[in-house]
Amino acid sequence: MSHLTDTQLQSLADGTLRGPEGLAAREHCEACAGCGASLTLYSALVGRLSALKDPEPPADFTATVLAALEVREAHLVTRRHTLLAAIPALALALFAIIGWALNTQVNRLIEGVSVARTVWVAVGPVFAAIRLPLGIGAFLFLAVVLTALSRTLKPAYARVTAGS
Ligand SMILES: [Zn+2]
Repeated sequence: MSHLTDTQLQSLADGTLRGPEGLAAREHCEACAGCGASLTLYSALVGRLSALKDPEPPADFTATVLAALEVREAHLVTRRHTLLAAIPALALALFAIIGWALNTQVNRLIEGVSVARTVWVAVGPVFAAIRLPLGIGAFLFLAVVLTALSRTLKPAYARVTAGS
């Protein structure tokens, strides 16, 4: 039998060369000094390799991952708060638009009539004074509409919650 190849020696060392082929190879190694020495070398190498362990993760690995998750969670909460803060801003914008529309309407109505214009000059300061109440009225109207809407939507939401 000719000398064993490196592949055969490695397979013999790590135990994957079995059966009659493995037996013949082992017998050759016992008789041949060169192949025996190579097998000893490969066996030592296999022993060293199997003794290697997976590298340990850094001690602060878990803490770092958890901290990163917390930062992400905080970002999500901030975004939610921003959305919630946008709702009053939207209501304020609507209130401003309605108030401005009412003022514009009153101005146009009065400017359309020349007699009334004279009256407008006289009562102008009075109207200017009631602009704020007009705006508040518009806001209250909006609040009533929103309350009515939420009352209408609530039973449906309650039903969905009870059903789940
Ligand atoms: Zn040999």
